[in-house]
Amino acid sequence: MKRSDLQHKARQYINGRWETGVTTGISRNPSDTGEVVAEYARADRSQAERAIRAAADAFASWSHSTPQRRADALDQIGSEILARKDELGLLLAREEGKPLPEAVAEAARAGQIFKFFAGEALRSPGETVASLRPGVQVDVTREPVGVVGLITPWNFPYAIPAWKIAPALAFGNSVVFKPSELVPACGWALAEIISRAALPAGAFNLLMGSGREVGQAIVEHPAVDALSFTGSVPVGERLLQAGAARRARLQLEMGGKNPLVVMADADLERAVECALQGAFFSAGQRCTASSRLIVESSVHDSFVARLRQRMAALKVGHALEPGIEIGPVVDGPQLQRNLDAVQAAREEGAEHVWGGDLLQRASPGHYMSPALFLAQPEHRVARDEIFGPVACVLRADDYEHALQLANDTPFGLCAGICTRSLAHATHFRRHAKVGMTMVNLPTAGVDYHVPFGGRKASSYGPREQGRQAAEFYTVTKTGYMQA
Ligand code: NAD
Repeated sequence: MKRSDLQHKARQYINGRWETGVTTGISRNPSDTGEVVAEYARADRSQAERAIRAAADAFASWSHSTPQRRADALDQIGSEILARKDELGLLLAREEGKPLPEAVAEAARAGQIFKFFAGEALRSPGETVASLRPGVQVDVTREPVGVVGLITPWNFPYAIPAWKIAPALAFGNSVVFKPSELVPACGWALAEIISRAALPAGAFNLLMGSGREVGQAIVEHPAVDALSFTGSVPVGERLLQAGAARRARLQLEMGGKNPLVVMADADLERAVECALQGAFFSAGQRCTASSRLIVESSVHDSFVARLRQRMAALKVGHALEPGIEIGPVVDGPQLQRNLDAVQAAREEGAEHVWGGDLLQRASPGHYMSPALFLAQPEHRVARDEIFGPVACVLRADDYEHALQLANDTPFGLCAGICTRSLAHATHFRRHAKVGMTMVNLPTAGVDYHVPFGGRKASSYGPREQGRQAAEFYTVTKTGYMQA
């Protein structure tokens, strides 16, 4: 097959129809930058306006559709994603650079998420409560919120949209979805599958384009009742100001600087694997990546030596090459930010252990070796989210010191500990100031049927995923009645 045959033409999906944009953009393969993966239609403000109006109009019928209809639609979407996971995974690997097996697994995860929320659509949450007054009945029901604007990043181009779109539709909301400009074809492929489900025209809309134009149009529009955003802290902060000013319901998932504590009593081999996986897989481009490895003094040197040895053996290369463990980083600007962070770490006096070099491979791509530093808590490499394969090790005197270092960050998404001590594991689970804890597991890698989210600068608003997704995608109504 010629390369041009693999090029996708991605269009907007507005009010049940496919539309071209005023302008077009392209996405490139980060493993081989000469390869254009997709040419996509970029929406402008007037298309965004029409999509939002269509969603508002469709809400009247979709919000009153039966749970069975919603469950069937989501189940059909989930089934098609699962049946096409290899093809979808290939597209993701080409557009975002995730190694193919991981990309296929992410596509499958998206299918499972739709299946999960097909079930949730049937379990409309609510309760009946005894009233304080005789003869009075009280019930608490949940209703859909309205039009929800979903704005997503590039690092999980199927899974994150799926865990927003599926609950939004399951509970009867209508959707305006804007994927990241770096992965338009993945967003379009998902929309193409959703377009075949029996939804009323306008209940689901896809808008591709820039954050500043299309994203902002969604954020500012008074007909958008709720906004769910995953992305960087600065964009999330702007969204918080603009959304709160017009009283939109908000859910923001942002950055992380997640700690993995390694205690002296840990199974060291397992701890090294947790660190390697959590810090460097997916090229460190996961909000749950363990970029701060906090190691108890007595095992510090042997942990670092073993981790260095494992890092040196990691296979970095083209996302479609068999056996590759780490693909390229997503684009040129991200690669440059990672290399700048490596340079800054050297300049601020962090001790370089391994990597952080630009790599040449057979195809021109954004390749770098994973980097490790020994840092002090005040170093920027230990404080700022880099969102690349760059991690640091901090030395801890004992458990109390390790916990203090773990919590010494503006972020609070996820925290892990490797230990054989039940007392330390239990204490850490209770005292880590985060939304998710891991014991003897990498910080990255979560289930889809339980809540996902963090505290402090990492998250704002109700949790995503699992049954708790209903908190954001429904509003509570309390009814009193006397017969
Ligand atoms: P980003 O903030 O640059 O972009 C995210 C989305 O917001 C994109 O669709 C973009 O077009 C849009 N956007 C940009 N400017 C906008 C504006 N002014 N108004 C409205 N929308 C706008 O983030 P990214 O580079 O795509 O993703 C990387 C970031 O995402 C990292 O910081 C990472 O930690 C975070 N992330 C967080 C989680 C989580 O659940 N906590 C998960 C994955 C990624």
